[in-house]
Amino acid sequence: MRNPFSLATKTALVTGANTGIGQAIALSMAQAGARVICAGRSDCDETLASISGGGGQGEYLRLELSDPTAAAATLATCGPLDILVNNAGVIRRGDAVEFSEADWDEVMDVNLKSVFFLSQAFARSAFARDTGGAIINIASMLSFQGGIRVASYTASKSGVAGITKLLANEWAARGINVNAIAPGYIATNNTATLQADPVRNRAIMERIPAGHWGTPADIGDSAVFLASGAAKYIHGAILNVDGGWLAR
Ligand code: NAP
Repeated sequence: MRNPFSLATKTALVTGANTGIGQAIALSMAQAGARVICAGRSDCDETLASISGGGGQGEYLRLELSDPTAAAATLATCGPLDILVNNAGVIRRGDAVEFSEADWDEVMDVNLKSVFFLSQAFARSAFARDTGGAIINIASMLSFQGGIRVASYTASKSGVAGITKLLANEWAARGINVNAIAPGYIATNNTATLQADPVRNRAIMERIPAGHWGTPADIGDSAVFLASGAAKYIHGAILNVDGGWLAR
């Protein structure tokens, strides 16, 4: 029977696949049948063990995203890819009036400049092989909202939403689906402090229509959808996976 959600025969590269949302995306894609290249600056042993434990195929690629040009050159040498997931991201907090250039540059390099140049390397390879593919960028609720004390993060994630649409406009007719996922509050290491703060945690949960935090697997399974044939007519979309947060 036809399975429009299968990723069998596909090769996916997921950045930041050692932990959190990236790890879950790698696992979900492997479960859907993809061979997954788990990319990041830290080893991905735990992710690879889960993939092989479930009978899937995975491998590690060392990728440091604070140098976007070098990262794009590395991606260009890693063999043909069908799916690119730009997941890795960092956040730096500080009042706008005191925000440092280092905290601006680091976040913009990892969260935005790398997303663009990895996507460019992916598209150049796809065009050279005359194949299509799928790019999924991990955006944020701060692709739509302002946030507070996270100037470079908000700028980077707003930029991710913008270039997702720009790249979709340029590449849709050439067979590359470019889309993004905007996660809501997802329980990862990144949000451990918020989860542990009883006042903030309660305020967050009261505002989420679903009434609870999301899990990394919620994002992983949504990424499988956007990478699959089921999403072949979806271009430039930003899929909110937020328990309804932005609907409030
Ligand atoms: P996380 O647990 O902190 O993971 C971040 C990932 O990015 C890690 O794999 C990290 O590697 C990698 N990374 C950071 N800097 C890097 C660099 N210079 N080079 C290579 N890799 C680098 O965060 P998460 O919650 O899973 O977040 C994943 C994505 O979802 C991010 O883009 C984040 O902005 C977005 N997001 C998360 C939430 C949420 O509620 N959790 C909400 C909205 C959006 P190391 O482990 O080696 O540092």
